[in-house]
Amino acid sequence: MNPWQFETTVTDTRTDARGAWVALETTLFYAEGGGQPPDAGTLAGAPVLDIQRVDDVVWHLVEQELERGALVTGIVNDAVRRDHSIQHTAQHVLTALLEDEYGIQTLSFGIGSEESSLEIETDVFDWNQIESLERDVQRIVFENRPVSTYELSSEEVEHTRLRKATDRTGTIRIVAIDGLDYNACGGTHVEATGQLGIVHVTSMKKVRGNVRLTYVAGLRALTAVHSFRTALRTIHQTLSTTNETVAARVIEERNLRLERDKEVKALEARVAKAKVAAFLQEDNYVITHIGKTEAETLTTTIVERIAATGRIAVGANHTGQKLWLMHDGTHDIAIGKFLKRTLDDLGIGRGGGSHKQAQARFESVIDLERATAEIVKRLQEGMVSC
Ligand SMILES: [Zn+2]
Repeated sequence: MNPWQFETTVTDTRTDARGAWVALETTLFYAEGGGQPPDAGTLAGAPVLDIQRVDDVVWHLVEQELERGALVTGIVNDAVRRDHSIQHTAQHVLTALLEDEYGIQTLSFGIGSEESSLEIETDVFDWNQIESLERDVQRIVFENRPVSTYELSSEEVEHTRLRKATDRTGTIRIVAIDGLDYNACGGTHVEATGQLGIVHVTSMKKVRGNVRLTYVAGLRALTAVHSFRTALRTIHQTLSTTNETVAARVIEERNLRLERDKEVKALEARVAKAKVAAFLQEDNYVITHIGKTEAETLTTTIVERIAATGRIAVGANHTGQKLWLMHDGTHDIAIGKFLKRTLDDLGIGRGGGSHKQAQARFESVIDLERATAEIVKRLQEGMVSC
């Protein structure tokens, strides 16, 4: 018999905006609580979508309504349960070590679908400390310390040993990690620390004056390592680097890129100057520049320079399928309104702007060319209302 399978009876039902919920005579499903997400699984063959405890009743959100009194089979997804138990027990170990070895309290924690997080009460924690913490955790993993769960009456609990005081009365569930932790906890746990595999901290961020660590454990750690390796392999193949050389190389590439951007800008300014000088030979009120293959930055630089000479500048860029209109403010044409009206008349493109500058984007170069031709025609014929 599958230990994750059970037979039971529906004792109560209710519906709300999220759907149909059922309560069961007995259940093996873990309801969300204590930073741990709910179990997954099926009930009467259909997926259980959520499990919540309300006033000591465990409610299961099901895909299809079930009748009160119905005999049903529940199956808990053991892979999901195991994963949650690993992430949750890893949190016990991290919290215990942070407090005992570093004097840092855990303020809150949660298990996400990919990563789990821990907010800790400190404003200084660095990556050397994280590596040292990970080594401490690994030692506890290798020692394969038993994790035991048992229930005690409030009077039997050794309150001074508790990691966190509890004001619960009656029966209290204790979770103890041999020689490391003694805690009142209702979550699910692994049987021994060896089952955690690896506990790997993935990020560290400052939040609200504290530090938030995110981590992965067990199979999630392996998945994370696979993802890092895939990303690194792509970088290594592209840049011919190794783990040892990649950081310096990326910084070098970034600096080269910044240098080249500066050079490109200087070249664009020279090209723009030359092109505008050629335009000025023409005695036109409207000057049109069409950039078929150039960068958008070059088109806009040319447009700005034409406008600075007192003409109305029209610049089209085929690569970005964009159009710019600009004048120096001495013309009475409200260029943004003019552009918008022309596009509305044509029924293509989207754009607009202010009195002296405007821009539009098109879905195709054909639309861009049509709009450019119409705009130039209207400007030359003076078909603009001011
Ligand atoms: Zn726990």
